Amino acid sequence: MKTIYPRSVKHIRVSEPAEEQGCHEQSSHEPHPNFNERHPNSTEQHPNFNERHPEFNEGREGTRHSLKPSTGSGARIYRKGRGAQSDIHNPFEKNRYVDWEIDLPKDQSERKTQYIEVFPKSIVNKVESPDVPSDYSINPYQGCEHGCIYCYARNSHTFWGYNMGLDFESRILYKSNAPELLEKKLQSKNWVANPIMLSGNTDPYQPLEYKLKITRKLLEVFLEYKHPVSIITKNSMILRDLDILKELNKHRLVSVAVSITTLNEKLRQVLEPKTASGHARIRTVKALAANHIPVSVMMAPIIPSLNSQEIIPLVKAAAEAGARNVQPIIARLNGQLLDIFEDWAYLNFPERAKKILKQIAEAHGGQANDSRFGKRMRGEGQFVEHIHQQFKLARRLYLKPHEKFEHNCSSFTGQSSHQLSLFTERQIA
Ligand code: SF4
Repeated sequence: MKTIYPRSVKHIRVSEPAEEQGCHEQSSHEPHPNFNERHPNSTEQHPNFNERHPEFNEGREGTRHSLKPSTGSGARIYRKGRGAQSDIHNPFEKNRYVDWEIDLPKDQSERKTQYIEVFPKSIVNKVESPDVPSDYSINPYQGCEHGCIYCYARNSHTFWGYNMGLDFESRILYKSNAPELLEKKLQSKNWVANPIMLSGNTDPYQPLEYKLKITRKLLEVFLEYKHPVSIITKNSMILRDLDILKELNKHRLVSVAVSITTLNEKLRQVLEPKTASGHARIRTVKALAANHIPVSVMMAPIIPSLNSQEIIPLVKAAAEAGARNVQPIIARLNGQLLDIFEDWAYLNFPERAKKILKQIAEAHGGQANDSRFGKRMRGEGQFVEHIHQQFKLARRLYLKPHEKFEHNCSSFTGQSSHQLSLFTERQIA
């Protein structure tokens, strides 16, 4: 693995964005804390801008519709294996991408993925969102090669000086020092055991994990300290770590949520191109359940007129595989996600795109980029109620009742647990 330093990443102190929430959840839309340091007069181009787009104009003002297919000189080349079909300007950068105006030759339309090592000073993030059922999260990777077009985490890539279009899925930041940082945190006197979500923002089992094993090493640390962890993924690679998961499970320290959007492989290939297939994820649920590891399924997100008709069969398949529950999240398009999703929808489903976009907005009181806590993931309105009714029915038909799972926080062996036991002993004495 070659460590590539974009021109300025090497010189900045890399720290976590102020707020990162949920693999399928939104981050607050603030610039990276070091953005000004990195871009003192806000006119610096993206480090790879010239290399990638020598022919682009500077300073052109983009519009919300700047990514719509060109009606000009020729057809665009569809980038197979990518969700986003274009770059989009980072709102914190002055320069903007305008590739809707030109026809790229095939070789320029392909974007090789770059892996970039970063060195954060801390790795455990406090989750501020009341919509996310964890207080803490860890993100061993930023950006996600899975490339789901609807991914809410895309916005967070702008913190790091990249764009949330193609950059998000082709400029992957990785944190090799994450296991050491986690260990340091768990050893700290003030840390009290509390389930940590892996990961809060992007998928911990994205393709690079196969080689780097950062997530696996994190799980080893959790096991060593008998600390609870919850995992969310769209990749069956999690089964590689079944040996550790089984050990964690002996102490009631782990739960898994597998996110499954569709069982239609043709749709999956364009919607979330580098994830495992829906059926592979169902098999993953089955393997985890067969090993008594508490596993649930998230149908995240439900996109009207795309996968909304799959609720009943998907809940049935998940229940038969042994999922304890199936939870829906209604699609919303926060920040610039609306632009890249709209572009993708018109390219892939020109006849339905308008309807899909309209229904997403209607599911959020007319605002596709709904950011209201409590409402943004559940949605509202007639269509959404119909979806929740279907879930209710499907759960009643297929899901077996399960005892509520709670992580065990009492076996933690870190510093604070020693302090606590010393304190308790003193009290008893
Ligand atoms: S798996 Fe998909 S939804 Fe989850 S972080 Fe990666 S791109 Fe986003």
